[in-house]
Amino acid sequence: MRTYFIAGNWKMHKTRSEAAELAKALVSQLKDGKQKYLVAPSFTALETVGNIVAGTNIMLGAQNMAAEEQGAHTGEVSVLQLKDLGVQAVILGHSERRHIYKEDDELINKKVRLALKHGLEVILCVGELLEEREAGKAEAVCETQTVKGLEGVSAEDLKRVTIAYEPVWAIGTGKTATPEDADAIHAYIRKVIGKLYGEAAAKAMCIQYGGSVKPENAAQLMAKANIDGALVGGAALKAETFVPIAKFA
Ligand code: PEP
Repeated sequence: MRTYFIAGNWKMHKTRSEAAELAKALVSQLKDGKQKYLVAPSFTALETVGNIVAGTNIMLGAQNMAAEEQGAHTGEVSVLQLKDLGVQAVILGHSERRHIYKEDDELINKKVRLALKHGLEVILCVGELLEEREAGKAEAVCETQTVKGLEGVSAEDLKRVTIAYEPVWAIGTGKTATPEDADAIHAYIRKVIGKLYGEAAAKAMCIQYGGSVKPENAAQLMAKANIDGALVGGAALKAETFVPIAKFA
């Protein structure tokens, strides 16, 4: 059985004091939660939030990292700096990174391999644009992003990878994929993992859904056979919306 994994991506929101307030509320309200949890604040709030979630059932995640270990990369944050702050996992290939900041599969793969080399867990985001879905290319896009994102990743390291299927048209738009549509793509991604790593790895792979997950739709999504959790944006910014998602069961 796979463990459900619910992660909150706080994006470019919250000062340190606001982040601390939310982190404290989550620690207290999720202490009896039964799933795997993660929060990913901005870089600026990682230390503050890390001190609050340390030793709890909530992991500390970063929203991105550089593809290089260190060096002359103005404005970037390295895996070594993240580890120094107690970061346990990193979100890579988020659609905002792919489409606004033009990160391609090759760069994302470099980051994935570097994060894994340094012992972090990785949430690798994949997902199609609306025009790609309308052109019947959703599966092909997710397959390419999955295959290229995981190039050079060993079966052993794959155990620290979660895939987040996030249809770009559903992110921050209020439009959620139907549980059936989401499950179909999750099943397809699982098949792709099976082709790359074998049946056992495919069965063990945690595949989150992301895209306007809310307290009202979380349980229906999680009820689907291939949906193993959620990567939550907007609804992760308040305990009153994140906690019911996190405790969907
Ligand atoms: C996200 O950014 O990963 C996300 C899923 O956002 P939202 O929940 O706001 O759609």
